[in-house]
Amino acid sequence: MINVPSLNLKAQHEILQQEILEAIERVIRSQRFILGEEVEMLEERIAAYSQCRYAVGVSSGTDALLVSLMALGIGWGDEVITTPYSFFSAAGSIARVGAKPVFTDIDPCTYNLDPSQMERAITSRTKAVIPVHLFGQCADMPAILEISRRHGLKVIEDAAQALGAEYPPSRRVGSSAGLGCFSFYPTKNLGAMGDGGMVVTSDPDLAQKVRLLRVHGSQPKYYHPLIGGNFRLDALQAAVLNVKFRYLDEWIRKRRERARHYKKLFQGARLEEKGCRLPKEIHAGAGLAHGHTFNQFIVRVPQRERDPLRTHLGARGVQTEIYYPLPLHLQECFAYLGHKAGDFPQAESAARETLALPLFPEMTQDQQESVVEAIAEFYSS
Ligand SMILES: *Cc1c(COP(=O)(O)O)cnc(C)c1O
Repeated sequence: MINVPSLNLKAQHEILQQEILEAIERVIRSQRFILGEEVEMLEERIAAYSQCRYAVGVSSGTDALLVSLMALGIGWGDEVITTPYSFFSAAGSIARVGAKPVFTDIDPCTYNLDPSQMERAITSRTKAVIPVHLFGQCADMPAILEISRRHGLKVIEDAAQALGAEYPPSRRVGSSAGLGCFSFYPTKNLGAMGDGGMVVTSDPDLAQKVRLLRVHGSQPKYYHPLIGGNFRLDALQAAVLNVKFRYLDEWIRKRRERARHYKKLFQGARLEEKGCRLPKEIHAGAGLAHGHTFNQFIVRVPQRERDPLRTHLGARGVQTEIYYPLPLHLQECFAYLGHKAGDFPQAESAARETLALPLFPEMTQDQQESVVEAIAEFYSS
């Protein structure tokens, strides 16, 4: 039996150890632990990389979303549209600023917000939309931006899982409009050794506002024109990220290679015919460097097979995850919104039928073969 973890950061760290230790030492010698030069360097890199004029380093991806909503002045009485099938952050942040999360169903092929569902949810109180680029692939931004422009909505991209992802013609996530939010949680495309996040924008006023809100809205120190919070990024995390940033494109390339290899192995084992479906890349033929960054590799099986398949793989040393078992509209904390099962059937089916297979840049072909062999074994038993 060969063990295949869902993520292995050890291999990556072995290669980078020396550089990272030196970067950490530099910070210790500087005694500048909060914000400072390392954070500014990272901000410049992420701004350029995501085709934006400004980037503001913050304490996490969640705080990036929260501070973006605050910068847009969204609060009580406002509605913000987002997806019910995602990590909790966007919906949670909308509620935390006092606004109402309004869910609309997903496209079953990409698991991202379905723009054709979005328009119906718009009311006179709708102020913004937060599309999520789930699993590393862009939401349908051209359609979402067009609807948003027509209704005067602000757009905040939750690009936590998709740093580096592109859509035609060569746009990077985060740069579409309004504000883009990234996370440096260790499992993301660019992961820190702790928490971290970034807000990107090309609007100088919004950038300035996010900068102010990041430090309790104070300017000058101890004078507060705005109520903000402590949303600062550590210099140590920024120093680690500055080392890792140079490898980001290579890592995304490797993720894509491994996704392609899975596809080949699936075809060889005829797994799709047996009911185990591969993820779809919508802009596969568009000549983009990386349309889908495969932060997660999500397969889909009939509901009755999903949990038994997961148990079977686990017993053979293959670690899998379920992203996400309960859609957001059915979470206990959102009971006050009054939703019931059946409200968003595509999100609910996805929650019951999807499984994340191991995929990370350092994954070996042997490991991929064992995963696919273990799946094939499930279908032949
Ligand atoms: C990880 C993630 C976040 C939150 O990022 P943190 O840095 O963990 O706060 C937000 N949205 C999505 C879709 C994520 O996957």
